[in-house]
Amino acid sequence: MGARVTGEQELPSPIGVRSERHVRWGAATVLLAGLLACAPDRRAGEPPRHLVLVTVDTLRADRLSAWRAPRATSDLAGLVTARGGIPAGRKSLDELAAEGVVFARAFAPRSQTFPSMATLFTARPVPEHGCFDNEEVLCTEVATLAEVLGEAGFATAAFTTNKLLVSGSGIEQGFDHFFADFSEERDVRAVAAATQWLRERDLQAGAPMFLWVHLMGPHLPYAPPPLEGVDYATLFTEPGYAGSADGSREFLDEAYRTGRELAPADVEHVRALYDGEIARVDHVLSLFVEVLSGALPEQPVDVLSRSILAVVADHGEELAQRHGYWAHSKSVYDSGLHVPFFVRHPASLTGRRVFGEIVGLEDFMPTVLDWLDVAAPGDLRGRSLLPLLDGGRWARRDAFASWSDRIFTVRTERWRLVLNPERIEPDDPPKGPYPIPEVGLYDVVADPLERHDVAREHPDVVRELSGRIATWLEGSERVCAAGAPVSQQRLDDLRDMGYLDSGEGEAEDR
Ligand SMILES: [Zn+2]
Repeated sequence: MGARVTGEQELPSPIGVRSERHVRWGAATVLLAGLLACAPDRRAGEPPRHLVLVTVDTLRADRLSAWRAPRATSDLAGLVTARGGIPAGRKSLDELAAEGVVFARAFAPRSQTFPSMATLFTARPVPEHGCFDNEEVLCTEVATLAEVLGEAGFATAAFTTNKLLVSGSGIEQGFDHFFADFSEERDVRAVAAATQWLRERDLQAGAPMFLWVHLMGPHLPYAPPPLEGVDYATLFTEPGYAGSADGSREFLDEAYRTGRELAPADVEHVRALYDGEIARVDHVLSLFVEVLSGALPEQPVDVLSRSILAVVADHGEELAQRHGYWAHSKSVYDSGLHVPFFVRHPASLTGRRVFGEIVGLEDFMPTVLDWLDVAAPGDLRGRSLLPLLDGGRWARRDAFASWSDRIFTVRTERWRLVLNPERIEPDDPPKGPYPIPEVGLYDVVADPLERHDVAREHPDVVRELSGRIATWLEGSERVCAAGAPVSQQRLDDLRDMGYLDSGEGEAEDR
């Protein structure tokens, strides 16, 4: 029998509100709910052979239509259909999620790329791998997913588009092939490079593969270029918008730094540009899925049906939800930490498809290793989610996160507690106000945007959750010794991206 879904009625789900496609999924989801009466038997189907991981930078869960955003941001199929048909083999993110298993309450350990990706690839919380900030390097002592799969005979390849995820950062450990591109067309180029890599392999009889593609689209600036004739910059913006706001870092940083309040129409315009980036990244993902499905003559092998396809984000984005701050690095709230996360392999999936249990990015590695029948290192903190998928016993989880090694937070199904004992104000660039209370408690069910601090009203909850943070920290054993040396190149890249103060004026390419 399936594990209990707490608060299932308010769960985000692949049931959207816009298109007929969504209505059809709605019916399918109801049908699937009926299957809960049967004991799911995931292992009865054909096991997956490959792992394809797509990480999307800065993709906030509640902006996806698959997570019930009112806009069809991740329903490319509907979009292209409106323009004359969708090519065979392409699927939107919403469609892929509906064919997989959605973890509707998944959380990143830090609202910043490198710490979060280090957790995804090591199954360890930030205090264990020690990469508290983007400036760190992942140490060689820690076993990564690519290393474990490589030792098990997998061919491993990475295609990245973020300057933090490069050879020399430590994230490359275990990858036989490592491609990086930072041009404006980086996402499309990463997919093209992955396609080329696939074409050079024997996909029928060759080794199993771990293929990782990181897409950058929704990261600032919000200025989506057109793709295949679709103008993503105007897709969701109001045609009659007469303001001067845009999605550039210069404009948004300046407004934030100077405390200049944007008009509601300006805020909505910029958020519509961000949503356009999501729709574009959904389009890029569909191009990749088309390749994986074998629909193209130059790559005729269906890899998709034999793969676990996992889609996850490294963190979300504030989008001016508090203090006029648009980016992510300072956030210790759902806006920055709640991420989309789903896995898809229809041949070995039955039973419930939407899970509201709290999970973390550290659970990804044990889950896919379990699913691929590859032994995991023994002391991982993350846990396989397969017992949850298979309807087995599942103990409640909390999602812990931090800002650097100074501010800590825990998210349960009902609450978020933030502890800022030194009353630090995050100083990540861009400079600007981001006050965080010494103790902040939010009822995320009644107040999903975490606007009202109710710590005074619930001292018992504060005490209980503070204890859980302390236990979590005490139980975290640092795997990496002192921080690895950081190269000058890495510091330069960080500065380029706006993660370090440039010292004077604006960095050029952030
Ligand atoms: Zn990121």
